[in-house]
Amino acid sequence: MKAKIILLAIISVIIVSCQSSQKATQLSNNEHNSKLIAVAWYQNSPEMMALYYQGFNLAQERLDDAIASNKQSKPLAVVADIDETLLNNSPFEVNSIKNTNDQTSWHEWSSKAGAKALPGALEFAKYIQSKGAELFYITNRDDNERAATLKNLISEGFPFADDAHLLTKSDLSYSTGSTSSKVGRRAKVSENHEIVLLLGDNLNDFSEAFEDRSQNYGKEAVEKFRDEFGEKFIVLPNPIYGAWEKPLYDYKSGLTEEEKTTLLKSKLRTE
Ligand SMILES: [Mg+2]
Repeated sequence: MKAKIILLAIISVIIVSCQSSQKATQLSNNEHNSKLIAVAWYQNSPEMMALYYQGFNLAQERLDDAIASNKQSKPLAVVADIDETLLNNSPFEVNSIKNTNDQTSWHEWSSKAGAKALPGALEFAKYIQSKGAELFYITNRDDNERAATLKNLISEGFPFADDAHLLTKSDLSYSTGSTSSKVGRRAKVSENHEIVLLLGDNLNDFSEAFEDRSQNYGKEAVEKFRDEFGEKFIVLPNPIYGAWEKPLYDYKSGLTEEEKTTLLKSKLRTE
């Protein structure tokens, strides 16, 4: 009888632990779903390629226009963001979706200097050079990523991949308080160059007017600057991450995937 009770107890423990491990597996499968469709689209949709080509084709036309109508004494400059504007870091995101227990940190990824050029990016960078203008890279990568970033740009064949043309997040002397704001670094480039065109996947790459997203996700600023898009501002697509995420998650960090899903659903509208 006693042996029978012990056996039953063992069986129940096994059943409970199987159930809880099944639950854990289900949770970990769901853990990164908020990025899954975005990364799948970014890596596999021809629409993504077409949007990058569209952006760089427009950029080339606008640069031609700027050169044709140039009356500046200062040399002309194009300012571009790096990540998801010129270089594709989506393999890093895949790692974080698939390997929930073995996540590569951003710094580990960027130190490998293995990000590939996005469609049309390299050709446009070379076009800038061929026209006698300059390309400045304004990135929110840290200064301790500077060497690896230059190595990556050089290995992909980008021109202007040197210290003078790379302004990182940690270039604090050019900052205006918020280190992720690019306003001070744009001003630094403007000291000796005329910025004729800006390219980015985040509206903060264009103007400080887009940095405050607290009211209606910052859409009023887009309305205000609507004539600049496709003119001085060339926007490239990034559904994976960006400043647009923070208001969706009520500026909270460290949310679980379930909490994120609840907040995202609460932001959906049916009319
Ligand atoms: Mg970017």
